[in-house]
Amino acid sequence: MLFDTHAHLNDSQFNEDLEEVIERAQTEGVTHMVIVGFDRLTIERAMDLVEHYDFMYACVGWHPVDAIDMTDEDLTWIEDLASHPKVVAIGEMGLDYHWDKSPKDIQQEVFRRQIRLAKKVKLPIVIHNREATADIVEILKEEGAEEVGGIMHCFSGSPEVAKECVKMNFYISLGGPVTFKNAKKPKEVAEEIPLERLLIETDCPYLAPHPYRGKRNEPGYVRLVAEQIAEIKGLTFEEVAQATTQNAKKLFGIK
Ligand SMILES: [Zn+2]
Repeated sequence: MLFDTHAHLNDSQFNEDLEEVIERAQTEGVTHMVIVGFDRLTIERAMDLVEHYDFMYACVGWHPVDAIDMTDEDLTWIEDLASHPKVVAIGEMGLDYHWDKSPKDIQQEVFRRQIRLAKKVKLPIVIHNREATADIVEILKEEGAEEVGGIMHCFSGSPEVAKECVKMNFYISLGGPVTFKNAKKPKEVAEEIPLERLLIETDCPYLAPHPYRGKRNEPGYVRLVAEQIAEIKGLTFEEVAQATTQNAKKLFGIK
């Protein structure tokens, strides 16, 4: 069994062949997936999917790139959705200093408000971080995010930062980049972080693992991520699959 903890099957890139993509995932042993919505349209689509497929769960929040668009009504809507039985986390949220659509101070405020919301509804949070590690860690500390914990999604930082996040009650989720030949840091993280704090994900349609790099990613490819972690850690594929699935179920409160 495999748990893809971060999939955007709600992306329009899957409109044409969603059923085939899901079938391939099941053939590869994917038993659970979390569909991540990060704005009005993708949250609505994520909720449609999780109501239709029993093996899908939802994570709802507001993306930092679009922080400038988030209204008070949007945040209230997310809070209402949090009580839905299939919503298992709040996010993705965080900071993205690569794109400058939303100024840093607005991104930080929207990030803080979502952490407070997650604490209120008692759900873990899913963190998106691009070129903003120091500010992310500081805000997580200041806001007491440890209380709910969560996931550092598609983690690309150093083992040192990963360890700091683990201390704050976070899991480290690895995706396609751990399979890239030149990806030194994700491989070091896979090696140094104990299996009981690791999760796997695709972030599909983005970041397809080797040998599909540059193509559209899909949940079935999460098997390649688990195989790579198994190789790095000197474990069997089954050990990694089972442990990461158990970790995800525990975090999301799935029986
Ligand atoms: Zn994502």
